[in-house]
Amino acid sequence: MKKSNILVVGAGINGLVAANYLQKSGVNVTLIDQSERVGGACISEVAQINGEHFHYALGASVLGLMQDFIFEETGLSSILDTFVPSHPKLVHFPDDAHATMIYRDAAELDLELAKKWGERGDIRAFREDENKVIQYLQKGYRDARPPSLSSAKAVLGDELTKLWITGSARELLNHYLTSEKSKMYMAMTISESGPVSLDEPYSAFTLPVMNSGSVFDGYYGFVKGGIWKLTEKLGEINRKQGVVIQTSSKLMEVDLEKNHAIFISPEGEKKHKYDVIIFATDPKTALGMISNQNLHTEKKYIGSSGKLNVVFKNPIQWKDATNLPDTDAAFRFLFSVNSIEDFEKSTLSVLDQNKNYDPGYMQIYCEGGAMRMMNCNEPYDRIAVFMKNFSLNNSGTDLQSVREDALKKLFEYINNPEDCIWTRLLTPRDLKDIFHFPGGNIDHTVLTGGQTFSDRNFSSDPENHFYRLLDNENAFICGAGTYPCGSIAGTPGYMCSQEVIKYINL
Ligand SMILES: Cc1cc2nc3c(=O)[nH]c(=O)nc-3n(C[C@H](O)[C@H](O)[C@H](O)COP(=O)(O)OP(=O)(O)OC[C@H]3O[C@@H](n4cnc5c(N)ncnc54)[C@H](O)[C@@H]3O)c2cc1C
Repeated sequence: MKKSNILVVGAGINGLVAANYLQKSGVNVTLIDQSERVGGACISEVAQINGEHFHYALGASVLGLMQDFIFEETGLSSILDTFVPSHPKLVHFPDDAHATMIYRDAAELDLELAKKWGERGDIRAFREDENKVIQYLQKGYRDARPPSLSSAKAVLGDELTKLWITGSARELLNHYLTSEKSKMYMAMTISESGPVSLDEPYSAFTLPVMNSGSVFDGYYGFVKGGIWKLTEKLGEINRKQGVVIQTSSKLMEVDLEKNHAIFISPEGEKKHKYDVIIFATDPKTALGMISNQNLHTEKKYIGSSGKLNVVFKNPIQWKDATNLPDTDAAFRFLFSVNSIEDFEKSTLSVLDQNKNYDPGYMQIYCEGGAMRMMNCNEPYDRIAVFMKNFSLNNSGTDLQSVREDALKKLFEYINNPEDCIWTRLLTPRDLKDIFHFPGGNIDHTVLTGGQTFSDRNFSSDPENHFYRLLDNENAFICGAGTYPCGSIAGTPGYMCSQEVIKYINL
């Protein structure tokens, strides 16, 4: 008999994408979330500034890792306006007099990196080989084919598989690049999810996976109004398609034998019968529901990213501005370290329980500048500063001196710091409390050996049933802790939905 009642728990990007594809396949989908609204870690928050309500991105800010087919097939592409800066990214190291421009054009980039950072390696070969890996990954996403080392070797060969998948980031970077600064620029991605050493096996793989978005051809960009429009709109699309969405509904218990889930909503306790249950939550929640304590402790959850939201009353005047029209929207990167060894040291410093913060780098997403490029005029300018490295010890409100030091560093690059009127710092501790990320990790679990590529699953039989939750035939998991990774991508949600569709049609 066809199984037609699907319960999806968690209305973040992955739950929303999975619900979208499943409902379209002809089954009945109920999507529940404990929060009052859909979106998970892709939501807005309101700041009270001068008596006005001002919306800013509380979690995610930029879009880029989504696949173009998901953006189109869900119906999002026809209702959202987006903008991708074509301006070169601007990189600043403490001992550099001027910004280094990360040009899109390979020849221009070669010249710039040679001139500014003394790079003598082969950036073009790096990009060409990375693209081969990315194409292999993207084909796997489209076909909803879970990863395996044998398929990687068959397509890429042994050498590229070792360099780009199973190997360490340090070996990968040393293979193509000579300058410490080029290596640090590339290495930012490795530690984005947490304190991952450049020497860890499989750390190389984070580079191609984090560049494997196709919605903007591998680049990152902005959604008109704010990235939270994406999850809000997908919620609306899903409702129109017939998905029953119940917010303020917290899953409390699952009976995997009787196929029912119990959740608490404002109307009281509810029992929900299902044929298939999908956990689009963090893995700790999913595993906790089926009481598997062992798997919990084996996983590395710790995150080290913080976010500083900053609002200016007038457009920010960047000292590194160029004459290009989108200069206010350019991505900017401010390093606090000058050498790869200091980079590594600051990345790993937060594993020391006594350390609260060790400055590594800041990535600046100029959201207000991007909104202006889309003719979306907001009363204030806003930027999101994604910054490293925080431990799980403190909330942002306890780290006033860190917030002030970060602003001081930022203001070195701005002509009108006096226009800054509002800030909010979030640490991994805040991400744990606000978004329920177990270790405050933006990818739910660390992207590291044993929990990335083909190991990024919770199945007892990953070769045949990759998105299954342990050995439960009709329980699946597709949150950010599953392959390929977190981010506003929805790829795990899509790939899992395809496995579920196969299962229900058996
Ligand atoms: C500060 C910050 C900045 C980030 N910046 C970016 C960025 O710029 N670009 C980018 O691409 N990514 C970014 N990310 C990462 C990205 O936001 C996440 O990886 C992604 O949102 C995870 O989506 P998800 O659907 O897997 O999980 P989540 O968004 O975590 O959703 C899981 C949902 O499950 C619900 N849930 C959990 N337990 C239960 C329960 N018992 N009952 C009912 N519901 C439950 C939760 O309420 C939540 O809504 C950022 C994240 C943070 C926090």
